[in-house]
Amino acid sequence: MMTAPLRFRSTRGQAPVLTFDAALLQGLAPDGGLYIPEEIPKLSPAVWRQASSFPEMATGVLAQWLSGTFSEESVAAVVGEALSFPVPLVPLGDALYVLELFHGPTLSFKDFGARTMARFAREVLARRAEQLLVLVATSGDTGSAVADGFAGLEGVRVGLLYPYGQVSPVQERQLIVRRPGVQAFAVEGTFDDCQRLVKTAFADPDFSSVRLSSANSINVGRLLPQMLYYIWAVAVGGFDEVVFCVPSGNLGNLTGGVLAALSGLPVRRFIAAHNANDFFPRFLAGEGPAFGPSRRTLSNAMDVGRPSNFERLEALLGSQMSQWIWGTSVSDKETLERIRRVYASTGYIADPHTAVGLEAAQRYREATGDQAPLVVLATAHPAKFPEVVRRALDFEPQVPERLARLWEAETSVVRIEATLDALKTHLLPHVVATRT
Ligand SMILES: *Cc1c(COP(=O)(O)O)cnc(C)c1O
Repeated sequence: MMTAPLRFRSTRGQAPVLTFDAALLQGLAPDGGLYIPEEIPKLSPAVWRQASSFPEMATGVLAQWLSGTFSEESVAAVVGEALSFPVPLVPLGDALYVLELFHGPTLSFKDFGARTMARFAREVLARRAEQLLVLVATSGDTGSAVADGFAGLEGVRVGLLYPYGQVSPVQERQLIVRRPGVQAFAVEGTFDDCQRLVKTAFADPDFSSVRLSSANSINVGRLLPQMLYYIWAVAVGGFDEVVFCVPSGNLGNLTGGVLAALSGLPVRRFIAAHNANDFFPRFLAGEGPAFGPSRRTLSNAMDVGRPSNFERLEALLGSQMSQWIWGTSVSDKETLERIRRVYASTGYIADPHTAVGLEAAQRYREATGDQAPLVVLATAHPAKFPEVVRRALDFEPQVPERLARLWEAETSVVRIEATLDALKTHLLPHVVATRT
């Protein structure tokens, strides 16, 4: 039976509703809102009770959400290519678990969204005989996940902008390693300059002949895959009910979990674990929305003062937000202390983002007395942050093979001034060449 495809509406209600493929190319809605599903499909409990492998479970879920837009066959092909890495649930004792989301090629959970979105985009571009230029401003994990996800796909070129001298050595390596169809730019300026360049490129007539995408975390193509590992954790853990603790910045990961819960996954509560960028915990505590400038911390992928997915959470949960989500903010000092304590008591080495989650989980249990099984999402591999781990533990984590290999790989980076002219000079010939 063919059902009408699920459609996506803007959180601001002033833009046309779109099917997934159109929303994916659109990114931000024309009214400035973010796309959310018009209705939430209900999952059968068999999805997590009888799951046999991650790709099989993921295919079933996404095929249901995207029915009428993508065939089950093409969903299976996308998932099989994009999500072919392990997702282990590691018990730490006392019904506390970490779900390791860092076994993808760039060692952070962003591989799930970026790799899946890229392959859905390839399908849509092929159907429409269109090409895409992805422009990303990045200060860390997003850029490498997007570059890796989109590299070498037919019809796609990627420009990667990062602030020269302001990312860690591991992060920089992951950005500049040579990938087909990808050009990295080391911008002489700040992260904000990089973002400004991307924004002005989007509005510039010289780029009007190409379809541009930022592939940023608000894209529905990145959001939907972020439901999948929540479902997988319940499947593997065999939980009747579970609390998820999510190290958060832009709140995209958490929004993925909320979608899974709204479609029937037995989630008791979410914990939003933030670093010193504490807008959301303060909002949950009743202080009202008051965004602030971002502050730099040791868990830098969560240094977000104005979380873009907040608008989605409000649209999805409304006044029930604080029943569903418990929030807390963790300092750098407490992050280092948590890395030490967890290592001392279990031998587990947590990266700084995961450590913020582990500290928040402990606080949640103390504050509420809730002893339900609790899963902390481990969002990055500790080897991505050797300096922080050394500060906490006096040694550096073992470097996995796929990260070690980067130091032998060829690199390609162009250093540019922070001006649109400089970007155009180096990027446009590259793009035009792909359009012939
Ligand atoms: C991006 C990121 C986060 C924050 O995820 P959001 O979806 O922005 O809330 C947490 N940890 C790591 C390692 C990340 O790269």
